[in-house]
Amino acid sequence: MDFTLTPCQQTLKGEFEEFFREEEKNAPEGWLGGAGASLETDDGWAYHLDVGKKLGEKGWLSLAWPKAYGGSELGHIEQVIFNETRAYHRVPGIDQGPYIVAACILEHGSEEMKQEWLPRISSRETNWCQGWSEPNAGSDLASLTTTATEDGDDFLINGQKIWTSAAHRANHMFLLARTDREAPKHKGLTFFITATNLPGFTARPICHMSGKHSYNEVFFDNFRIPKRNVVGEVNNGWYVTMSGMEFERSGISFIAETMRDLDDIIEFCKETDLGRETISRNPILKHKLAQRKVEVETARQFAYYIAWLQSKRERVPAEASAGKYYAAELMLRVAHTGLDVLGFYATLKQGSKWAQLRGRLEYIIQHGLGPSLAGGTNEIQKNIIAWMGLGLPRK
Ligand SMILES: Cc1cc2nc3c(=O)[nH]c(=O)nc-3n(C[C@H](O)[C@H](O)[C@H](O)COP(=O)(O)OP(=O)(O)OC[C@H]3O[C@@H](n4cnc5c(N)ncnc54)[C@H](O)[C@@H]3O)c2cc1C
Repeated sequence: MDFTLTPCQQTLKGEFEEFFREEEKNAPEGWLGGAGASLETDDGWAYHLDVGKKLGEKGWLSLAWPKAYGGSELGHIEQVIFNETRAYHRVPGIDQGPYIVAACILEHGSEEMKQEWLPRISSRETNWCQGWSEPNAGSDLASLTTTATEDGDDFLINGQKIWTSAAHRANHMFLLARTDREAPKHKGLTFFITATNLPGFTARPICHMSGKHSYNEVFFDNFRIPKRNVVGEVNNGWYVTMSGMEFERSGISFIAETMRDLDDIIEFCKETDLGRETISRNPILKHKLAQRKVEVETARQFAYYIAWLQSKRERVPAEASAGKYYAAELMLRVAHTGLDVLGFYATLKQGSKWAQLRGRLEYIIQHGLGPSLAGGTNEIQKNIIAWMGLGLPRK
């Protein structure tokens, strides 16, 4: 099954496929892939930076940007093909810089800001973490309380962020802070970009339940950001943030990662004695695998449908929420089907001599909860579908 691609898109897909298939071979020992893997070890981070640099040189971090700023002006479908191929091969190299930060700068930044920052994003000189969530502001992000106070040519930032993925690795952050405490909560926020290796910025690790470190709490203590690093207007940060949501929103990366996991489980059932024995003892597992295959392919086609809507300049809040919610659930369903197939072998960590599939299933069973929370929980996605997709009342 394949979404109908134009000959140009097929050619591009072939180029991406060849590159990422080769890059997968350069993964460090023990690499399991997935959204957070490059943040957890020094080797993983070095691999991420190395691939990112190569992507920058190829111009693949700015595929959708206008040609005037070094982009290729390619559409949403091409971006989905890129993200799908990269994620299927479990290759890192991208972060939110080329997507969210670049989209905000392109729409709201001054010409000077575009000239200064866009080349630094597309070359991977900068790598980014997202300073949005706070201890009392997650789903209700606009209630955040980190403050930004004017001080000469700078703003002074004070407060705390939490769950900040990559803050211990990235050299830059984009963040929201409150510049007007009297205004209604959505109207007193400002969007900043900043280097992080400066006085007043402290990142402390928060360990995942798996014991790995990919996110942090971040403290700002009179942290200085020059006024020229404000993206858009002061107090207009909420609306700047919303334009960052215009980038490719299909959720294809999670889906492609899940497709690969399912393919590996199916391969295990065909190619190993343990897999073959398990499947012949328990034929219901065949149905479960068949069902997962249908679900994964449905999710993939839906991702292309979202990209197609976006390419027609349609806004896709309900569709993007549906895709994200379904992909997050599917990642866990596939992991649990893997658990059904491998039994307790699936719970063994990488490094155990009895672990199968290099311990990837144990990893996704623990990390697979992340996508149902990060970037908006499943409940919030369902709220958006209910309000914006079904037109149901908010209260
Ligand atoms: C792996 C991972 C990586 C992350 N990385 C980052 C990052 O890099 N930067 C960053 O800023 N944040 C990051 N986050 C934080 C993430 O965005 C928040 O966890 C998320 O927005 C939920 O916020 P919260 O944790 O404060 O939960 P809360 O908002 O307190 O929600 C608690 C529970 O209440 C439910 N709930 C809340 N409001 C409603 C409602 N209106 N209707 C129905 N149910 C509701 C939620 O669904 C949830 O089950 C990350 C999170 C994870 C898990």
